[in-house]
This record gives sequence, C-alpha cells and structure tokens, in this order.
Amino acid sequence: MTEQHDIPLVYDNILTPGPEVHLQGGYCPSCDLYHFPQQDRCTECLGTVNTTDLGNKAVIHSVTTIRTRAPLGLPSPYSVAYLDLKHVPLRVFSLMDPAEAGQYSIGQEVELQVAPLGLNNNKEICLRPYFRTCANSAE
Ligand SMILES: [Zn+2]
Repeated sequence: MTEQHDIPLVYDNILTPGPEVHLQGGYCPSCDLYHFPQQDRCTECLGTVNTTDLGNKAVIHSVTTIRTRAPLGLPSPYSVAYLDLKHVPLRVFSLMDPAEAGQYSIGQEVELQVAPLGLNNNKEICLRPYFRTCANSAE
C-alpha cells in the first residue's frame, strides 16, 4: 500500500477521524435532517448543525459512467452515482472506484474507500473518497 499520511485529503472535514473511513456530515436536530458535506448552517432552518458520522456503506440509487476525458487528473472512464447511505437517511452524489467503472448496478451495496486518486484544486496528488463494491461481496 502507498504511504498515505503525507498526502492531503481533497477537501477538509469530509471524513471522520479514526482508523475506519466514514463520511462526516452535519445533522440538524430541529429538522431531523442530515447534510453532506457539512454546512455551517442548516439549509432548511439556518440553525446550527452538529457534526455527525454518516457511516461507510450505501446502496446505489442511480449510476452512470463517463467516458469523456476526466477532470482533476482522474482516470477515464469513471462512474458516478447517487447513493442512499445505510447509516442515515441521506442521498449523496459520489465518485465510484475507477477500477470498477461501468460495472455497477442499481441496488448494489457499496462501501467507502479512500486512496490517492486524481488532483486537488492546487493540482497536487490527493486522497479522495469514493465508493466501491463491498469487499465481502467481491471476493
Ligand atoms: Zn434545520
């Protein structure tokens, strides 16, 4: 495995601290709504939101594969999907594992990974979260 400690994450505050990779988002207790990425204020009521763990598993709601030249130094082709998170009621838009581009289907369970992938806004190699086939269903 590549040594990842010195590589910056593509965006700050999108993953929970700790050994297992989970998405980090916001939760508004007034609206009972989750947000990703976390905003300073709830998009519905403008109240303060709590930082919360959104988990690392999801089900594919819709998916498409993009075969034109990829932005941000990403490999081509690559798939993107709307995912329904399993831990909380929230649909997120996510990059999928480029190694599995075109192999996803609606209803499939996927899990979060983080690896060096593509470039950040400073055109530096960065760690980027993406979802991929669950390890236990791929082996
Ligand atoms: Zn709210």
